Amino acid sequence: IRAREAEQRALPAQTTDGHRVEVSANINLPDQAALALSQGAEGVGLMRTEFLFLERGSTPSEDEQYETYKAMAQALEGRPLIVRALDIGGDKQVAHLELPREENPFLGVRGARLLLRRPDLMEPQLRALYRAAKDGARLSIMFPMITSVSEVIALRQTCERIRAELDAPALALGIMIEVPAAAIQADALAQHVDFFSIGTNDLTQYTLAIDRQNPELAAEADSLHPAVLRLIRQTVAGAERHGRWVGVCGGLAGDAFGAALLAGLGVSELSMTPRDIPAVKARLRASTLSELRELAERALKAETAADVRKLDLAAEPSS
Ligand code: PEP
Ligand code: MG
Repeated sequence: IRAREAEQRALPAQTTDGHRVEVSANINLPDQAALALSQGAEGVGLMRTEFLFLERGSTPSEDEQYETYKAMAQALEGRPLIVRALDIGGDKQVAHLELPREENPFLGVRGARLLLRRPDLMEPQLRALYRAAKDGARLSIMFPMITSVSEVIALRQTCERIRAELDAPALALGIMIEVPAAAIQADALAQHVDFFSIGTNDLTQYTLAIDRQNPELAAEADSLHPAVLRLIRQTVAGAERHGRWVGVCGGLAGDAFGAALLAGLGVSELSMTPRDIPAVKARLRASTLSELRELAERALKAETAADVRKLDLAAEPSS
């Protein structure tokens, strides 16, 4: 039975009519790669680099970061790796950086906003990534908390300058879509990036105006809210117009029903906690693409998250 399970996990997430969705893992350290691959991950869709800063009392040097990114790429043996540039702020506070206290950190100097203000943090990280790429590491860079095209243009300029200084290869550059403004303006943003990855945790928080950490509102902070799904649809439409691909690396990707919906909405890569991979793959392998699209269309027309959930039961009369 064990061997059969391992075999199942290694199968691609391909619908019965042959549509393939890439399934990747959210992991932060190279020593987690083996477990992710054993669960069936086809790459890493989100490496949260904050953890290199959070789990210690000091900022890792450029060399240390370079070693870590290189080790992660090596552990993946050529599979795709998306490294997210530092996403500090909001729920991810790093004491030793001594950043000013904010009244409302989730609406403050977070993610790309901090990177653009702190070249001393951003540039060593980018240099480490381009050095790893120059050594043959296969990786892409993704920027968090993007709100505007101007941020993307500034970040790209920094990447290009550092790439040229190091004579490193060009890397695919993507952005997180996790602020409603970015989803609404996806068609404009798509012209400036290679890919999108939707962060449903923050996109839900900011769309519904619910603090993602407030336990009192946890049940209402539902990524299946039709407003969130419509923003995801809008993101995919904007990306498709310019031939870009869209992934999802927020929690909705790791929910089997959520993953089915996302594939139906046109998302082509799903990245999640390794333990969620087998169930997501099994769910996608059990449907046709047209069933998933039909499911997505019905979800977009639903009035509430609860109504969206009911579609799950309707789709699976056997359970
Ligand atoms: C998200 O917001 O959905 C996401 C993947 O990023 P994080 O949870 O690290 O904010
Ligand atoms: Mg986020």
